[in-house]
Amino acid sequence: MPDTTTTRYLLGERDIPRAWHNLAADLGGLAPSVHPVTGRPVTADDLLAIMPPELARQETSREAEIEIPWQIRRAYAQWRPTPLFRARRLERALGTPARIYYKYEGCSPTGSHKANTAVAQAFYNQQAGIRRLVTDTGAGQWGSSLAYAGALFGLAVQVFMVRVSYQHKPHRRTFMEAYGARCVPSPSPETAAGRAVLAADPDCEGSLGIAISEAAELALSDPATSFASGSVLNHVLLHQSVIGKEAVAQLALADDHPDVLIGCVGGGSNLGGLIAPFLHPAAGPPPRIIAVEPTACPTLTRGRIAYDFADSAGLTPMLRMHTLGHTYMPPALHAGGLRYHGIAPLLSAAHERGLVEALSLPQTECLAAGLRFARTEGIVPAPESSHAIAAVVREALRCKEAGRAESILFGLSGHGHFDLTAYENHLADRLHDQPLDENALAASFARLPAAALVQD
Ligand SMILES: *Cc1c(COP(=O)(O)O)cnc(C)c1O
Repeated sequence: MPDTTTTRYLLGERDIPRAWHNLAADLGGLAPSVHPVTGRPVTADDLLAIMPPELARQETSREAEIEIPWQIRRAYAQWRPTPLFRARRLERALGTPARIYYKYEGCSPTGSHKANTAVAQAFYNQQAGIRRLVTDTGAGQWGSSLAYAGALFGLAVQVFMVRVSYQHKPHRRTFMEAYGARCVPSPSPETAAGRAVLAADPDCEGSLGIAISEAAELALSDPATSFASGSVLNHVLLHQSVIGKEAVAQLALADDHPDVLIGCVGGGSNLGGLIAPFLHPAAGPPPRIIAVEPTACPTLTRGRIAYDFADSAGLTPMLRMHTLGHTYMPPALHAGGLRYHGIAPLLSAAHERGLVEALSLPQTECLAAGLRFARTEGIVPAPESSHAIAAVVREALRCKEAGRAESILFGLSGHGHFDLTAYENHLADRLHDQPLDENALAASFARLPAAALVQD
């Protein structure tokens, strides 16, 4: 009889964290973002044009702990604390002496970690009298999470969805509409930024950079409308720190301390949230941290450190980060949530300081690891999350070879129920790994804002 034991470390509603942990407090000496027009460091006041005061304050805060209002903790209680599992069946299948743990964020109403920041942003906007939230979405996880949070707090939501995903993921659009949101394929004729792109290329597949430009344009033109960001920005990583805070308490129940932390990175929010409390000086010696990205969009491994725009039209502040260039158009890939030209400045700085390693992996290896996980642990992971799993498999096999019983914790950022087409194509052997388009990358680097290049 096979062993079907499941080890799950559970916390109760009272253990929902009372404060978020701010990675910015532990990194020190961070470069400020730069205003796109004045060229001066961005202040909380500048941000008021697109977000409410409390989020602007959090974005520029260097405090270590920021209290979570009870209204947000009450919303979190619908699915938090999330479980932490020991992946014993995966360990056994790999024959590894390593102990593998995962923090599962797929049990939120929308199936990913994005709901953690969506409810926080909706709450602060509702408190500030905002009536509509606009945003961009790639694969649709963020758009659906914001749509859910908008419904919870009584705000209208409009989502610009990258056209190629809009066409390939009709259920995601319906999911957003089920919550009462409006979903528009981007580039769209509804904004100047969208019209400019369509004039140059009527068949443009879209990108997150273009969708952010469209959403930012609407937010700038209407005082009752705010922009909501699903990743990258400091306040988003702050909200995601509930993941790491709970994981610390759960590993204490397991009487373990991680040697390695692993997560997939698109904009860097789920990994940033997982690692935040582990980088705090009081947490002891920091573990190795591995950020995993697709070879088709290798921001940390191939990007340059520069001041660059978060969007393609150049409406947003310039962020100091690893970037492939704001005009880089990553190829359509199944892990749509990892298809972004830049990365959170906080994670970029952590990598620059040697606190975080980066690894880029091809999507076929990742989807194969995702299936292996489904067949051992019983959860079909999001294609994005399968990147973390592929790196976990590599690390577990390294431990096996070296005979080392290390402790590995990874973030399982979401389930893959809306992304079965990726697995369908993989199972039918229709997926191939494409080499990076070096010419497109070079052309994009050449279009980085001139004065902004910090380092080659
Ligand atoms: C959006 C998304 C990601 C990537 O975004 P980060 O900000 O890097 O976390 C990863 N996994 C899932 C399931 C997502 O929805």
